[in-house]
Amino acid sequence: MMNKKEVLIIGGGVIGVCTAYYLAEQGHSVVLIERDDICDGSSHGNAGLIAIDHAIPTAAPGALSAGIRWLLDPGSPFSIRPRLDPDLLRWLWRFRGACRLEPMRRAIPVLLALSHASLGLYEELHNQHVLDDGYHYNGRLMLFHTQAGLEHGIEDLRLLNDFGVNGEILDQNGVRQMAPSVQASVLGGVYYQGYAHLLPGRFVRKLAAVAKTMGVQIHTNTELLDFETVGQRISKVLTTRGAFEADDIILAAGAWSQLIARRLNLRLAIEAAKGYSITVQRPHDLPDLPLSLGEAKVAVTPMGEFLRFSSTLEMSGFDTSINMRRVSATRSALQTYLGGLDTLQDMELWRGLRPMTPDSLPHIGRSPSWQNLIIATGHGMAGITHGPITGKLVTQIIDDVPPDIDLTPLRPDRFA
Ligand SMILES: Cc1cc2nc3c(=O)[nH]c(=O)nc-3n(C[C@H](O)[C@H](O)[C@H](O)COP(=O)(O)OP(=O)(O)OC[C@H]3O[C@@H](n4cnc5c(N)ncnc54)[C@H](O)[C@@H]3O)c2cc1C
Repeated sequence: MMNKKEVLIIGGGVIGVCTAYYLAEQGHSVVLIERDDICDGSSHGNAGLIAIDHAIPTAAPGALSAGIRWLLDPGSPFSIRPRLDPDLLRWLWRFRGACRLEPMRRAIPVLLALSHASLGLYEELHNQHVLDDGYHYNGRLMLFHTQAGLEHGIEDLRLLNDFGVNGEILDQNGVRQMAPSVQASVLGGVYYQGYAHLLPGRFVRKLAAVAKTMGVQIHTNTELLDFETVGQRISKVLTTRGAFEADDIILAAGAWSQLIARRLNLRLAIEAAKGYSITVQRPHDLPDLPLSLGEAKVAVTPMGEFLRFSSTLEMSGFDTSINMRRVSATRSALQTYLGGLDTLQDMELWRGLRPMTPDSLPHIGRSPSWQNLIIATGHGMAGITHGPITGKLVTQIIDDVPPDIDLTPLRPDRFA
């Protein structure tokens, strides 16, 4: 019989909620605190892709030079607001170190192991509960309208082939058979089978409701303010709604985790990276197949009666303003690849802050300095993909049983 514990989770996004679910399943007593409402952060309006196959880290050879080129283009999908912030400079330096062949090839199998384990858990969760989140496992089609873009897409596939991932290269006709409404300017594409998709906000909220029925106490509008410590342990978590005590504390506050960690004199290598999405009513002529507009870096995800376009990676700290120039660039990309869709009525224009680590791997593990703190954050572009397996791994850490996946590359102190 495992030792049942009292566990406090900070953050009600996909990571906090999945963790609450798996801890409750093991019989632990769980309290989750959330500053706003469940799933009001990055987990709400993202592209909803469970990306099993496409495990190429953001930090890859060529990413820096592409990033520098894009910096000069105000409508590009990538930007950094220049500022003399030592944390940002340190992060960029480490990112530069990770943009080499060796670290990238080390990261790919780790990302694949996390994604495959998560897919199994997603299947299990959808078999066990009615989540009504449009979960669908039918792959993703990458579209390219330039020869250089198509060659780059094929290079990515060749790289992934080395790790056992297969995809299908398609010419114009092949693309049109899968997605008849794409523009004639699209030259070809690559189809990957290993992708599922869902309505991320609905998944997280429904799973939170299931977790509640399993005994998890959820306190919304409850903001963590500070900690009290005794020796190497956190003795109290101070919030806007009183103090909480627990045997173990999980830091799962997404991009804000680094601010919270500073209160404990911990430095997490995490930068906020803003992304946008536009959700519209789904037009009838688009298949229920997620698309990627390759050169423009736009994800197109069908979500039941909705269609969502997601794009951009802006490193502008915690500034959540919306740059309409980049939103317009996303709409023009739709015209290039799909035609006509830019006239659709917006239902929601959204932005979210991804918690990015320099090497594109999350931080999952016990804190090096606080005995009862576990860090579960830094999921960058793949928090939805890796949510369930993160929850499971954190539960295994708490239960002190061997984890399903080697946690060494995910150690929170790996950049110390
Ligand atoms: C445009 C875009 C598209 C994306 N597409 C995909 C995709 O297709 N597939 C994929 O896998 N990932 C995708 N992502 C990434 C994914 O959204 C994130 O990795 C994931 O949502 C991170 O989850 P989280 O739980 O760590 O953070 P969040 O969802 O941000 O949750 C953190 C929570 O902590 C709370 N919090 C913060 N501070 C405090 C405090 N002091 N006290 C209490 N609570 C606090 C916040 O309110 C928030 O609710 C995308 C992201 C963006 C922006």
